[in-house]
Amino acid sequence: MSEKWNARTRAVHGGVRRSQYGEVSEAIFLTQGFVYDSAEAAAQRFEKAGEDEFIYARYGNPTVRMFEERMAMLEGAEDAFATASGMAAVSGALTAMLKAGDRVVSARALFGSCLYVLEEVLTRYGVEVEFVDGTDLAAWERAITPGTKAVFFESISNPTLEVVDIAGVSKLAHAVGATVLVDNVFATPVFSNAIAEGADVVIYSTTKHVDGQGRTLGGVIMGTEAFIRKTVEPYMKHTGGSMSPFTAWVMLKGLETLELRVRAQAASALQLAQALQGHDALARVIYPGHTSHAQHDLITRQMGGNGGTVLSLDLKGGQEAAFKFLNALTIPVISNNLGDAKSILTHPATTTHQRLPQEQKDILGITPGLVRMSVGIEHGDDLVDDILQALKKAQ
Ligand SMILES: *Cc1c(COP(=O)(O)O)cnc(C)c1O
Repeated sequence: MSEKWNARTRAVHGGVRRSQYGEVSEAIFLTQGFVYDSAEAAAQRFEKAGEDEFIYARYGNPTVRMFEERMAMLEGAEDAFATASGMAAVSGALTAMLKAGDRVVSARALFGSCLYVLEEVLTRYGVEVEFVDGTDLAAWERAITPGTKAVFFESISNPTLEVVDIAGVSKLAHAVGATVLVDNVFATPVFSNAIAEGADVVIYSTTKHVDGQGRTLGGVIMGTEAFIRKTVEPYMKHTGGSMSPFTAWVMLKGLETLELRVRAQAASALQLAQALQGHDALARVIYPGHTSHAQHDLITRQMGGNGGTVLSLDLKGGQEAAFKFLNALTIPVISNNLGDAKSILTHPATTTHQRLPQEQKDILGITPGLVRMSVGIEHGDDLVDDILQALKKAQ
């Protein structure tokens, strides 16, 4: 790889390992194990495996390694470890580095499973977790006390699209020696500069934009080589959350078109936000890339004004109107994934965030009329037309 390569070039050529056949498209090494030339060679490899030497697919595999290297190059991270799902990455990164008695400060607005890991799992093993309003730097400052081991947040929260100031929170965390872990799914690898902004560890559910076509579950943890190889790898390889070679191959192919898809999706998301702003049926249109977003200045600084591929609409008519609206759509599908080529809508209060008590939904702004839209790669004009006709039917 050349240091000068742009992200789009890295996403196509990064990490390629060609076999003796010189294949153009990356090979899937669908193998659990690897044969050693001799007993001595096996012993030596267990003692210290070289760059291109593998032992067992739970530890590593050539196709998975290609994906990890390509992802790290794209993100500007020293190294990466690929996992079986986004949640294997979130839970793996946290449990690999924490022990009983450690203190973690986390943003409150989290993906439901992330909340479960922090609130229910880590605390069960004696980790202290304090939740704060992620948009409030003063709240972070109060909570990040000396001795805090880790800070965790989603850089753009789900589903209300609140933005966390990565540089600001990282500065506070680093002042007390805490590690900053960012779940960066909504920001996407295309628009994110999380490591340059100060994050130590960046995590993606690659199920979302990296696959981008709704096929496989996957995740990735990125950080310094020391963190990935000394902290993450031993934990992941012994606890079993590694990515499969087939999944890694799908993700490699996804990376090749990632930037094209995500930029097209974000352009349509902005087009929709502009077309829907001030619509009679809507109490709120939330899109971080639109000038009406409360943190538009932060988004401009942190993501060059790009708001990502997701927007949320709050229908004035509450749940009844939201359901009528969803049922009247003809192009997008009702589902709960995001980052897909197909536009996908979901009603968080009754699906992804159903488990939360009402009080928590109120704090997070998950109202009965809120719908989340992951914008796909369909033509933006068609999406605008379809959303407008469905809103009309919902009124
Ligand atoms: C989807 C998602 C996850 C979990 O990823 P899976 O691949 O479904 O396990 C974690 N964090 C965020 C922000 C997500 O959107």
